[in-house]
Amino acid sequence: MLRNLLTTKSLAAITPLACMLISSSASAEDGYQYKMQSTTVTRSSATPASTPTEEMPEIKYELGKQPLHLHPGGASNEATIQDFPISKGLAGVSMFLKPGGLRELHWHANAAEWAYVIAGRCRITIIDPEGHSEIKDFGPGDVWYFPRGHGHSIQGMGNEECHFILVFDSGYFSEFATFSASDWLAQTPSEVLAKNFGMSASAFADFPKKEVYISQGPVPQTLPSEPPPESENPPPLTHQFHLLSKIPVVTAGGSMTLVDQKQFPISTTMSGAILKMKPYAMRQLHWHPNADEWQYYIKGRARMTVFGSKGRKITREFGPGDVGYVPMGNGHYIETVGDQECEMLAVFNAGDYQEISLSEWLAKTPKQVLETNFGVAPSIIDSLRKGSTLFSKPTGPVSIPN
Ligand code: MN
Ligand code: MN
Repeated sequence: MLRNLLTTKSLAAITPLACMLISSSASAEDGYQYKMQSTTVTRSSATPASTPTEEMPEIKYELGKQPLHLHPGGASNEATIQDFPISKGLAGVSMFLKPGGLRELHWHANAAEWAYVIAGRCRITIIDPEGHSEIKDFGPGDVWYFPRGHGHSIQGMGNEECHFILVFDSGYFSEFATFSASDWLAQTPSEVLAKNFGMSASAFADFPKKEVYISQGPVPQTLPSEPPPESENPPPLTHQFHLLSKIPVVTAGGSMTLVDQKQFPISTTMSGAILKMKPYAMRQLHWHPNADEWQYYIKGRARMTVFGSKGRKITREFGPGDVGYVPMGNGHYIETVGDQECEMLAVFNAGDYQEISLSEWLAKTPKQVLETNFGVAPSIIDSLRKGSTLFSKPTGPVSIPN
C-alpha cells in the first residue's frame, strides 16, 4: 500500500505522513520504540483533516425532473444505476396511475419491491410460490412489500391520479430483470399457448404483440369487506402496512415513523421511514451499519452531507422529487433549509432497521477516552456527551414552538 502511495501520489500529498521503513523497530515522534512492527506509518497530529484521495460519488438525482415515460393509463420515471451510479443497492421509480390505469401483471427477477403511496388510491394483486393470493386497496401513507420474484399488478382507483414511489433492493432491477405477462405471451407461439391453456390457437390472435406495461381500463369497484372473495387462499403474512397509522417518534426537531420487519414481518429485506423535520432543525449525525439509504424528498427543502471516510464528504440540497443516496456505513446528517417543514421518505435494503448515532456513542464512551481522542478540555467533553435525540432542535431565524 505504501508503495502505491509513493508511486501514484505526488510527494506533496504524503508530506503530512511521517513514514518510517525500519526492518525491526521504529520510533515515534516522542521517541517511543515500537518493537512489534517491521513497518510503521505514523500520522502527525498536524495532518490536515481533508486530504482527499478521490472524489465522493454524486449523492443526488433529480428524479422528478426526468422525462416521464407516458402510457395510456399512467406514467413513470426511474432512478437506476445507469443514471445514478452510486445507487448499487437500491433503486426507485416514481409512478402515476390514472383511475382505472393498470400497471400490468409482472415480476422482478432480482429485487424485492417496497412502495409508499403519496397520493390517491390503488389496488394491488399478488401471488406467491405457495399459491397464496392477496388483493388489497391502498391510500396515502400505506406501504407494500413484494418479495423478489412474486407476481403482482397495481391498478389506479377512485377519481384522482394515484402517485406512489417504488423502491427496489437492487440498483439493477430495471433492464432485463422486470418480466411482464404481456411480453411473455407475445413471445410465445399461439400453438404453445393453446396447449398451455387448453384453448384454440386462434383465441390468442388479438393479444398484445409486445409489452403493455401500463394500460387503461375501467375504474375498479370498492372491495367488499375483508377478506375479499377473490382471495380464496390468503397468505400467512400480509403485503400491506398502514405506515402513517403508526405513532411516530416525536422530538423537538421533528418526527420519524418507521416500519421494519418487526412490525411488518413479510418485509425481510427492506425497511423504511417517513421523516418530518421542522424548519431549521437537523437530523443528527448517524450511520446505518447494515444498509444503504435511498431517499425521496416529498415536501420542503433540506441539505444533506455524507461523510465518505479519508477526508471525503459531499453536500447537496434536495427539494420535492429529488432522490438522495447514502451508501452503507457512510456518516450523514440532514439540515432543513428554509422556513418550511421537510418531509422525506427513507428506504433501507435491510429488513432490520439499524442506526448508530454519533452523539449517543460519545455519551456512552468514558470521558478519558474522548479527552485522549480529541485532545480538548474536559469541560468541552462534558457538553459533548448529551445522548441522542434523533433530531436537533430548530436553531434558526424562526422560533418554532415545540
Ligand atoms: Mn413491480
Ligand atoms: Mn440515515
